[in-house]
Amino acid sequence: MREKNSPQRPIRETKCPLCPSTFRTMSFLKQHLSASHFYVQIKEVLRKESCGSMLRCPDCGREEEAVKGNLVIHYGSRHNRVLDFADEKLRRWLKGLGVQRHQ
Ligand SMILES: [Zn+2]
Ligand SMILES: [Zn+2]
Repeated sequence: MREKNSPQRPIRETKCPLCPSTFRTMSFLKQHLSASHFYVQIKEVLRKESCGSMLRCPDCGREEEAVKGNLVIHYGSRHNRVLDFADEKLRRWLKGLGVQRHQ
């Protein structure tokens, strides 16, 4: 019996373009970008869409207490909204990795 790696998707470490962190999957990278680099901006957008102490995701309606911060990561990574906050260079880089905004 020979061990063979699945040829379909080799897991390569992807380095964050904005800091030295590396990630094994695209979704971890997007979560990191949302939590570490665009947190304030994303939260600002969510605040405008929400009222009171609950934040509401404008894309799918999911609600969560503002203090938790999970919704910020959800919005940025689940809906690929990090693209909205990335500068031109980062946006092109993300698109090159297959990150697309689905409407
Ligand atoms: Zn980073
Ligand atoms: Zn959502």
